[in-house]
Amino acid sequence: MPATVVVGGLVYEVVKWSKADAEKAEAWGQCHKDDLRITIKEGLHIQQEARVLLHEVMHAAHMSGGVRELDVTADAEERLVDVLTFQITAIIRHNPALVAYLQAALR
Ligand SMILES: [Zn+2]
Repeated sequence: MPATVVVGGLVYEVVKWSKADAEKAEAWGQCHKDDLRITIKEGLHIQQEARVLLHEVMHAAHMSGGVRELDVTADAEERLVDVLTFQITAIIRHNPALVAYLQAALR
């Protein structure tokens, strides 16, 4: 898992979240937009960990990408983030040539 991710020009620290704290919060991940920190529950399968990290990155993008100006509710943000996360996860998984092309083209 990367130590940092850059979203909208802001550097988010990515850290593991203890199982106990994650279970207390009933979440596998959180995006702390105030102090630019993403926490991911420890002990997840690597595929779940990757999906949860992408989910939290989508929350960060929601804040910085102008979507917030659409004035969506927290529930709508969660739904939007979930839809994008599942679609992007599938696109990345099934299109390695696309991912390689995008990485090279956007370098
Ligand atoms: Zn969420």
